[in-house]
Amino acid sequence: MTFEELKEMDQTYVMQTYNRFPVDIDHGKNATLYSLSGKEYIDFTSGIGVCSLGCADPRWVQAITDQAGKLGHISNLYYTQPGPKLAKALCQRTGMACAFFGNSGAEANEAMIKLARKYSFDKYGKGRSTIITLNHSFHGRTITTLTATGQPAYHNYFFPLNEAFRYADPTWESILEQTGDDVCGIMMELIQGEGGVNPLDKELVQKVAQLCQEKDWLLLIDEVQTGVGRTGSLFAFQQYGIQPDVSTFAKGIAGGLPMGGILANETCAKVLTAGTHGSTFGANPIAAAAACTILDILDDQMMEEVKAKGQYLRGGILALNSPCLGNVVGMGLMLGVDVKGERTNKELASLLAENGLLVLTAGPRLRLLPPLTITKEEMDKGLAILKQTLA
Ligand SMILES: *Cc1c(COP(=O)(O)O)cnc(C)c1O
Repeated sequence: MTFEELKEMDQTYVMQTYNRFPVDIDHGKNATLYSLSGKEYIDFTSGIGVCSLGCADPRWVQAITDQAGKLGHISNLYYTQPGPKLAKALCQRTGMACAFFGNSGAEANEAMIKLARKYSFDKYGKGRSTIITLNHSFHGRTITTLTATGQPAYHNYFFPLNEAFRYADPTWESILEQTGDDVCGIMMELIQGEGGVNPLDKELVQKVAQLCQEKDWLLLIDEVQTGVGRTGSLFAFQQYGIQPDVSTFAKGIAGGLPMGGILANETCAKVLTAGTHGSTFGANPIAAAAACTILDILDDQMMEEVKAKGQYLRGGILALNSPCLGNVVGMGLMLGVDVKGERTNKELASLLAENGLLVLTAGPRLRLLPPLTITKEEMDKGLAILKQTLA
């Protein structure tokens, strides 16, 4: 099949909900991908922070094929090994008490929101269901997570939205303004991903954590993008010096298979009970087996490597000294690059794709989320394409 044939079939039969680059990807190895016609791309996207181990990592392929050959799915009516093993590994490495598994970021955030409302209802009864979220956040595309998302542009067309969300700027004053007796939790990303790679101030986050503790509001951290080693620690909250009541994860957890979920602390461990929440595919054995393998690989040494690679990439970009690029923000291998001059970030991303480098955009920035396993050679190739494109 040629690219043109593929494109026509997609445009005819697939709902056109995505602005795709004029690029097809057929196969690859780590952060080096190939199209149907054999064109090579360096991948600074990892499928939007999903392919933690890059493309076709043999350890990941082995875990999946072994599990698929044994048991692919049976439902949550029965016990299976991979889910509890994964939950144990996640809890032991984060200080959390237990996990719930679903299939996507939005579904994970839905679970976290349900937990927060039920926690409050169980303890205080009705009238305390409001969740404060931040402007420029992104929490998903279901009606409730869309409502939680503090970007009015995403709300268009889909009214009426869910009730009981209020939005604050990431400042202490603005957050205080939105507080009240009707609140049950404060929900935020520590580095806003889709919103533009905006790292939150560490002191602010710690103050919010303390406020939550004083008021018995739940601290709800959306780590769908920042989690699973992306920022150089298993979860970003470990570098912010806070312990959330509930944290979500999704994108990178199973390295390319759909999985998401939540981690709850001791206080929140028993809020969601039989009959109050569930998911048919949740803790699917194949996805969970893949995730166990990923957690094994993402050990302390690997986390140091992620930090070092992030520094290397940041240094390489700054060293280009291009008038088209500005500051580089972010942590680990979650980087945002300011774009200056005539070209927008989207135009630059398109040009880079033409020249063989895949990057993402977020807000006004370029967003880089390479596989955590990207090699120095692959980073150098990507930086060379960036340099040549900017020249
Ligand atoms: C991607 C993302 C989501 C939504 O995840 P889906 O798997 O697309 O539902 C939610 N929150 C954050 C922070 C994200 O980056």
